[in-house]
Amino acid sequence: MTEKPDTPKADQPDIFETRESEVRGYSRSWPATFARAEGAKQWDEDGREYIDFFSGAGALNYGHNNPVVMEPLIDYLQSGAVLHSLDMKTPAKREFLETFEQLILEPRGLDYTVMFPGPTGTNTVEAALKLARKVTGRQHILSFTNAFHGMTLGSLSVTGNSMKRQGAGIPLTNSSKIPYDDYFDGETPDFLWLEKVLEDSGSGVDKPAAIIVETVQGEGGVRAARAEWLRSLSELCKAHEILLIVDDVQAGCGRTGTFFSFEHAGIEPDIVCLSKSISGSGLPMALTLFRPELDVWSPGEHNGTFRGNNPAFVTATAALKTFWADNSFQNELADTIANLHQRLHVIAAKADGATVRGRGLLAGLKFDDPEIAGKIAAEAFAQGLLIETSGPRDEVVKIMPPLTISAKDLESGLEVLEAAVLKFASAPELAAV
Ligand SMILES: *Cc1c(COP(=O)(O)O)cnc(C)c1O
Repeated sequence: MTEKPDTPKADQPDIFETRESEVRGYSRSWPATFARAEGAKQWDEDGREYIDFFSGAGALNYGHNNPVVMEPLIDYLQSGAVLHSLDMKTPAKREFLETFEQLILEPRGLDYTVMFPGPTGTNTVEAALKLARKVTGRQHILSFTNAFHGMTLGSLSVTGNSMKRQGAGIPLTNSSKIPYDDYFDGETPDFLWLEKVLEDSGSGVDKPAAIIVETVQGEGGVRAARAEWLRSLSELCKAHEILLIVDDVQAGCGRTGTFFSFEHAGIEPDIVCLSKSISGSGLPMALTLFRPELDVWSPGEHNGTFRGNNPAFVTATAALKTFWADNSFQNELADTIANLHQRLHVIAAKADGATVRGRGLLAGLKFDDPEIAGKIAAEAFAQGLLIETSGPRDEVVKIMPPLTISAKDLESGLEVLEAAVLKFASAPELAAV
């Protein structure tokens, strides 16, 4: 914390601006150069401290540089063990698979085959879509309004955001959108249209291979589906032999309070996508989980050079053993979640046109005026809090601290957030005081 790395001289051009593509995003909203990180905090090269309510978009559920993953990682790196192995067997991979089976699958009564699809979220979504099509022999996939599933063409075809979709440059085909929970503000019964068209042989709607869903839409506005809506979706899929894919890339790994985000609904998806926090450290890693009967792949039919990221297996194993061996972490997490939501409701009550969204530590404050969330996020950054916006018009402030955040750091961040909210969206009666 005392050492300060060399900073570029003031007269030097900023290499990020002169050399890096216009496509860069976060470095524009947060124009700091982040040099150090620990737990729920980061420091820029000038030593300025930030509280992190962003958590690497959900890739850092256990905080930055958590010693429980860093120590085994450093030991592994110094041991002469294999770093890169495609999908060959290694002890690190064996230990991960054994730990995942014992601590995650077996206690939840889940029998999923584990596929390593390449290390990113979009890789696991592509694998899931491909497998669903191969298993069913059908081409069409249904996904939801405001969904986000990644940037490669298959994942983009099931994503909602029109700006991102246009980036494809070609037609995004073989998929359609259906309304997410509460899309019509509770005015229409859930799945009214879908149930009807699936039963009507004259509807002209091809039976889909799969429906892909996020239980909480992280990028699409921090909307949380109700448990009963998820159960109806699951029943509908079963009744029509449509595979249900839960994209748990962002909402999984404890983010909503349980390891998988669908546990509270009591559903068992056919296919589950995990990435972001599965490595526990921020190292790239992804899994595609599916019912064993769906394992119709031929050897090597789907591959990828970076499926065997052994340092990620090491940190993933350490994170599972530390946080998911018993219920103690989950119980503490429940307290953090209750605390956050109670505080967010207090903040929303003081603000003009604000509502609380989301579930667990994937929470949001939605503002009726879509300009406000961006102003709040910019003010929060100026006051040392990293917080991003979400939703088609960036109308939601997205609150996503590490699951391991201390009550003290959570409160410090919330104080900055509250002050920023009141600066731009103070309720009229309060502003008059
Ligand atoms: C981030 C995300 C993805 C894509 O992950 P990448 O690693 O960025 O490819 C897919 N689905 C959801 C729900 C995500 O949040």
